[in-house]
Amino acid sequence: MRVCLLASGSKGNSLLVESGRTRLMIDAGLSARELRRRLDVVGVAAESIDALLITHEHTDHVRGLGPLVRQLDLPVYLQTDLAGQLADVGKPQCVHEFAAGEDFTINDLTVSPFAITHDSLAPVGFTLSGEHGKVGVATDLGVVTRLVTESLRGCRVLVLETNHDEEMLRDGPYPWPLKQRVRSAHGHLSNRAGSSLLQELLWKGLESVFLGHLSETNNRPELALTSANQVLDTQNICLPQLIVGQQNAPQTWVAQR
Ligand SMILES: [Zn+2]
Ligand SMILES: [Zn+2]
Repeated sequence: MRVCLLASGSKGNSLLVESGRTRLMIDAGLSARELRRRLDVVGVAAESIDALLITHEHTDHVRGLGPLVRQLDLPVYLQTDLAGQLADVGKPQCVHEFAAGEDFTINDLTVSPFAITHDSLAPVGFTLSGEHGKVGVATDLGVVTRLVTESLRGCRVLVLETNHDEEMLRDGPYPWPLKQRVRSAHGHLSNRAGSSLLQELLWKGLESVFLGHLSETNNRPELALTSANQVLDTQNICLPQLIVGQQNAPQTWVAQR
């Protein structure tokens, strides 16, 4: 099993999940050219990707969607009705629609989309389950609902959001309405909120946690790490590796077995 953040942050997001016979990309928030360059960096042939899943329609998640689908003839999985809201889905015949709360399978992985609260049309998080375990991905959420927590239980690998430090956001340069948007129930999770979600998800099988979607303006990697380490240091359930997602370079975790 391997999880690779090709990019993570407010300016572009994309990640790979590989397990068993299946290799999936979640979001395509960089240009197709830059996504393919990063695939080269991590040694993945673009043609080997089985499908692309989209969490929501914000540009930092779909920037390269159309060109990538056209270049690779890539099946793309979108929430029902989202295709009509996107300027470019590549090839309509490549689009597969799904509904939040309804599982579907791609090769040997079961994909479970679950609803999250964010200021976009029907945004989702995903879990991907197969014989090697379960991976959970939830970034771009304003608030952690019970559904989010329950959906993410039992994951070997988690990709969680630690978007901002609350004090840095408060004292930073964003105009007031944007500050309010970021910290609203339809905005983004702070380091504190992301870490308290992590606290809820600790179990003996948790091996790796990516901290993702960090704001370059309102956060620093060491603040996100400190916040998550405060949770990990006060428990003896598990010893997961913490990895902070980067905007400008891929970050990879590979299972030892
Ligand atoms: Zn978003
Ligand atoms: Zn985003």
